[in-house]
Amino acid sequence: MEIKIYNSLTNKLEVFKPIKEKEVSMYVCGPTVYNDPHIGNMRPAVVFDTFVRFLTYLGYKVKYVSNFTDVDDKIINKALELNKTEKELTDYYIDEYKKVLNSLNILPQYKNPRVTEYMDEIINYIDNLVKTGHAYVVDGEVFFDVNSVQNYGILSNLKKDELISGARVEQNTKKKNPLDFLLWKKTDKGIKWHTKWCDGRPGWHTECCVMIDSIFNGIIDIHGGGIDLKFPHHENEIAQSYATHQNYLANYWMHNAMMNINGDKMSKSLGNVILAKDAIKEYGGDIIRLFLINAPYRSVINLNDETIKDNASIINKISSVYKQLNLKLGMENINLNEKSADLAEFLSCLADDLNVPNAITYLLNIIKKANQDLRNKSIDLAILKEEFLKINDICYILGLSFKVKEYTQEEKILYNKYIEAKNNKDFNLSDTLRTKLIELNIL
Ligand SMILES: [Zn+2]
Repeated sequence: MEIKIYNSLTNKLEVFKPIKEKEVSMYVCGPTVYNDPHIGNMRPAVVFDTFVRFLTYLGYKVKYVSNFTDVDDKIINKALELNKTEKELTDYYIDEYKKVLNSLNILPQYKNPRVTEYMDEIINYIDNLVKTGHAYVVDGEVFFDVNSVQNYGILSNLKKDELISGARVEQNTKKKNPLDFLLWKKTDKGIKWHTKWCDGRPGWHTECCVMIDSIFNGIIDIHGGGIDLKFPHHENEIAQSYATHQNYLANYWMHNAMMNINGDKMSKSLGNVILAKDAIKEYGGDIIRLFLINAPYRSVINLNDETIKDNASIINKISSVYKQLNLKLGMENINLNEKSADLAEFLSCLADDLNVPNAITYLLNIIKKANQDLRNKSIDLAILKEEFLKINDICYILGLSFKVKEYTQEEKILYNKYIEAKNNKDFNLSDTLRTKLIELNIL
């Protein structure tokens, strides 16, 4: 199946061709672990997890890496404030982050490297940039020289002077060019590493290059992340990779758009921040996950009562028909642990730059048809079975938590007794059995 990806590097919809046949290398910048993620932070996590599930379903072996930034001034300051080590603080927030990933049904990834595990490699990488004339040292701090690569601005699609005037570039008199960025920072507090330049810590933009270098040999198929990382973070990753390997770090760059809340950006100053764990607690992982993917990933999504209600209604529809089909087919001893024979139409929606809304429309049509078929007493069970398998596979690929229920012998006997009582119009008995079946989550 031909997959098309909108490549942010070329600003074009392109046919996806992986470096290795049937294998995909993918990297998504992970969180800086010093607080609980808010719901908007989880958009890239679920979008790219859905893409990985889709590729895996098609038979690709996907090596998906997402890092943890566990060295940063925010981490150092918070650890000092709480009188903890940076490791204690980041261990705690990594655990919390993983709990959120788990509630959103995000699959375990190939690797989740931490910056502190790659410090030697980072120092070597920076040293090489200095030696090759792409970085310079001022007062023990190391800066990347953006004028040393000819195509700085390629991702942002802007020239250097446009970037300088457009972006909030921090003033630093040590820099040759305002766009030059810090590779090694001198620090006087918190965790630091000794180098020949000074005791300090790496800047943020080098870690992803180094991890991709170490794990994948310097070039990958897909680099993903939120659009907010495009400049300067991803632009700077490309600059370093170009200086080191004369490549753009990834052949395809994918950027998801942000999330608003009631039309506003989520921010501390507006006081409208919703933590992912709170949203999941209130609405459940499936509704939050569906809300985060049920829009073109390059469009801004808006969290409000209506969008939550719409996605909750879809989850209810899936849940109701899934349960009824599972029950009807399960009681007939039909094997449901198979793949759908024909998912091509659904997969073709996702192959079109991960068009989840079209895929959901397709799913809702199947649900509508299955609801009609369930009411048809003379329906061929093979039709219901294929409908169930389709819905089951679609839920898996979208990362919704529905799973095939296997019924025990006792449950089957109980259910048959209930049907018999109903047919015999023994309402007392059928009511009692019905209550029991509901308790067992069978009805
Ligand atoms: Zn990164």
